[in-house]
Amino acid sequence: MSEPERLNDFIRETVAADIAAGRDPASIVTRFPPEPNGYLHIGHAKAICLDFGIAAENGGRCNLRMDDTNPAKEDTEYVDSIIADVRWLGFEPAGIFYASDYFDRMYECAETLIRKGLAYVCDLSPEEWKEYLGTLNTPGKDSPGRARSVEENLDLFHRMRDGEFEDGAKVLRARIDMASPNINMRDPVIYRIRRIDHFRHGGKWCVYPMYDFAHPLEDAFEGVVYSLCTLEFEIHRPLYDWVLRALEFPDPPRQIEFSRLNLTNTVMSKRKLLQLVKEHYVSGWDDPRMPTICGLRRRGVPAAAIRRFCRMIGVTKFDGVTDMALLEHCIREELNASAPRFMGVQNPLKVTIVNYPAGGVAPLEARNNPEDPAAGVRQLEFGPELWIEKSDFMAEPVKGYFRLAPDKEVRLRYGYYIRCVDFVRDASGEVTELKCTYDPESRGGTSPDGRKVKGTIHWLNAATAVPATLRLYDRLFTAAQPGADGTDFLTQLNPDSMTVANGFVEPAAAGLDAGSVVQFERLGYYAKDADSTAEHPVFNRTVTLKDSWSKKNS
Ligand code: ATP
Ligand code: MG
Repeated sequence: MSEPERLNDFIRETVAADIAAGRDPASIVTRFPPEPNGYLHIGHAKAICLDFGIAAENGGRCNLRMDDTNPAKEDTEYVDSIIADVRWLGFEPAGIFYASDYFDRMYECAETLIRKGLAYVCDLSPEEWKEYLGTLNTPGKDSPGRARSVEENLDLFHRMRDGEFEDGAKVLRARIDMASPNINMRDPVIYRIRRIDHFRHGGKWCVYPMYDFAHPLEDAFEGVVYSLCTLEFEIHRPLYDWVLRALEFPDPPRQIEFSRLNLTNTVMSKRKLLQLVKEHYVSGWDDPRMPTICGLRRRGVPAAAIRRFCRMIGVTKFDGVTDMALLEHCIREELNASAPRFMGVQNPLKVTIVNYPAGGVAPLEARNNPEDPAAGVRQLEFGPELWIEKSDFMAEPVKGYFRLAPDKEVRLRYGYYIRCVDFVRDASGEVTELKCTYDPESRGGTSPDGRKVKGTIHWLNAATAVPATLRLYDRLFTAAQPGADGTDFLTQLNPDSMTVANGFVEPAAAGLDAGSVVQFERLGYYAKDADSTAEHPVFNRTVTLKDSWSKKNS
């Protein structure tokens, strides 16, 4: 699977067919309608790329609409983050709308349904309704309210709005078909009484429209042409169409469903993500282990990598689980091209250069990005004391180990050949220091006499290296599909999803702005975190260099 050049999927085919049949492409309107009750995650990014993509490809418009008709869990904090995340992903909404701003019009639409004899006030309690509803095999029976006159229904509905009845005492139902094989069509509730302040409208309303009634209206009010949503709404589509037909909207929007994105080793339900945050399993919505857009951003994932990933997974009606390794592959593809290279040492081991010349040596030159000649070069200081990676030395090397070992030689990246002549162990037997000679003739890492050195390792000059915290992230969950087999998903959290290493980095990397993403050579990609101080940088590992997806799929 390589990245598609031109996007083609069953939704785009539908759009193309409509255009071929005469629809003006510039008239295409789509919308992305999140409920502001949580932060956006990578699943939302799939919907965003589709909604905004289809509009952009045709010269149409895509709105960002806050689906804020359920006041219980919504908040401006979420609204602000959603707007920021959509923009960060690279999309500018044609308009930013709030479903709650349509409450007056929705209320009028409900009145219209009542006048048409297509809605009625029902006094049955939820428990009573369960009996009336029927089952998949038996039809329901009529609520006593079904027989009410238009006048009585209008009067009761107004009194619902005016706060005369307790929460839950009455609902407004669409009058559809109590025998429908689709339970959603058995006189669904379209308005309920709830005395909860709305974050935008305060206590103005005590009746709120239900999603299945509100959503088609929001789409129709905005002139939406394609209302794209996930597969779980397929069984709601007959009701979506019923509402638009009953209210006689000309050229009504069309709902088309596609499969949700599921990713291995993470969860995507807002309820579960909220639980991870509230119960402090993670540091917040933007914890770099979270699948949220803000978490991915803080981890160092470029927006372009998320868009690339969405192009690769495509859009289908098939419910599957996408391997996290594919997302990581897309991240590497983007960062390999764009991230400047630096040296960083994660688990430092000191190296003393025993033949370091009294006069010092001239600075070395390193390429900033071998993938991009335009990125230029920088100077590296060699020195009498260096840091190398602990794992780049073995006192008793195993077969096939080509890095440092007693009396063995290795190349320092952009530096010199060094040979280990001695090493020091502490009381516990751990190697704490190496003594090495360097070969002045191998400057720049080139062989002076044709002798072969297989290993090349990264290193830092201990005199100038800046101590840094390196947060090493791994999968948040050990299970590929947390909670899928009925297990409590929290018991499948990966206890090693974050380890902290106290390492060192090049001064130039330490001085970067928070949010900058670099490659520490041989280790991986890292984003400088906002937790950094002027003296002490903190880097979040975005992803290592090893591409397990490419290997599996080549
Ligand atoms: P919840 O987790 O509470 O069920 P939700 O994920 O459905 O919420 P919404 O805010 O209602 O969140 O979603 C906004 C839009 O994003 C909807 O059109 C929804 O279909 C789409 N969407 C949500 N999750 C995914 C996903 N995993 N893959 C693709 N699209 C998604
Ligand atoms: Mg939803």
